[in-house]
Amino acid sequence: MGPPFRFNRNEKGSRLSSLGLAWDLVVSLRNLSTYRKKRDFEKTTEPSGETAVAPSKRRRFVIQKHDASRLHYDLRLEFDGVFKSWAVTRGPSLDPHDKRLAVEVEDHPLDYGDFEGTIPKGEYGGGTVQLWDRGYWSPEGGKSPQEAFDGGDLKFNLDGTRLQGSWVLVRMHGDRYGGKRTNWLLITHGEGSEK
Ligand code: MN
Repeated sequence: MGPPFRFNRNEKGSRLSSLGLAWDLVVSLRNLSTYRKKRDFEKTTEPSGETAVAPSKRRRFVIQKHDASRLHYDLRLEFDGVFKSWAVTRGPSLDPHDKRLAVEVEDHPLDYGDFEGTIPKGEYGGGTVQLWDRGYWSPEGGKSPQEAFDGGDLKFNLDGTRLQGSWVLVRMHGDRYGGKRTNWLLITHGEGSEK
């Protein structure tokens, strides 16, 4: 995918113009503490998340192919100033019978949506990151995104360069408080398609 379209750059300059925006920034800085703790920004070229990215009228999403110790695809959905993120083993499937494991990972900053590069070996997530798809998402099913996320049943529509249509992320029982990881399943609703 070509780099010229700076997907997550601020639409109207980089200055925070309102208290509302400043508050969004405070909230996203708080949400990104886990992201920051895992990384050494002297060593990785990943964004530190300190650059404020203006909210967009539509919620953005990105999928990055991450050739780390194990190849996976990171699905990121814009949510209150950050990207909620899942590592999807083997990537999204267009077959509605095919449930793909999606491991919930830490929230990522919105400027991660432009990131491509190689994270050095030995650093967290060491390996190559490539943009695989991006575009916009919208919630489906009448619940707010936060409600749907909290309930472990997030239905959404993708309008991406590659992926289109209806998808759902379903949180697996027993993983919420038991294991260290929170596992979800990513499934298309049968209308998911690839352009
Ligand atoms: Mn990853």
